[in-house]
Amino acid sequence: MPSPLGHTLAGLAVGWCATDWSVESRASRWSPFVMGCAYAAAAPDLDLLYPPIHRLFTHSVGVTLVVIIIAGAVTRQVTGRVNWRIVLALAAAHASHVVLDWMGTDRFPPAGIQALWPFSHQFYLSGWDIFPNVERRLWRPDAFAVNLHAALMEVVIVGPVAVLSWVATRTRRSRAPTSGQAGRQPPSVAAVDTDGTWDRPGPRAGR
Ligand SMILES: [Zn+2]
Repeated sequence: MPSPLGHTLAGLAVGWCATDWSVESRASRWSPFVMGCAYAAAAPDLDLLYPPIHRLFTHSVGVTLVVIIIAGAVTRQVTGRVNWRIVLALAAAHASHVVLDWMGTDRFPPAGIQALWPFSHQFYLSGWDIFPNVERRLWRPDAFAVNLHAALMEVVIVGPVAVLSWVATRTRRSRAPTSGQAGRQPPSVAAVDTDGTWDRPGPRAGR
C-alpha cells in the first residue's frame, strides 16, 4: 500500500483542486486549507501508532462520514453556515487514502482494508497491485530498495495528478480578482465562505 508520500501527493491534489482562489489567500499554494487536505489524506496511517487497528475503521467510508460531520460542524461554528467546499474537500482527501490503499499491494492476511466499515467488516482489496508494498521492517536488508521503488512508483502514478492540479491553479488564480479590484465581496458576504483569510479592506483602488 502507498506510503505517506503517495497519500500526501493525493491530498495536495485535492486541496489545490478545491481551492477557491477568489476567497483564499493568493500568497501561497500551501494554505492551511491545502495542508489540511494533505493531512486528511495521510492521517489514516497514524493508526500504525497502534498496529492492532491498522487498516480497520480508520480506512473506511465510516470515518469519511465522520470527517464530513466534524468539518461541517466546525465550519458552521466558525462561519455561520456549513462550508461544503471545505467539507467535501477534506472528505475527498480522506477517501483518497481509502481508494489508494484499495489499489495497493498487500501480502499480509487479512489483505486489504475495512473500506465499508461500519456497514461491513469485510476486507477489500482491488487485486490490481498498482502501488507496490512498503517495507516497514526497516531492519531488513532489502527495505531501502523496496521502499525507494514504492516511492518512485507513487511519484510516477500520483505525481502527474498533483502536477495537473498545481498547474490548473495557475489559471484559476489569474482569473481571481486581485486585492482592491472590483468584484471583491464585502466582508459580510465573504466571511461565510473563507478560511479566515479575509484581511481588513485595503485602501480603495485609485486612491
Ligand atoms: Zn493506509
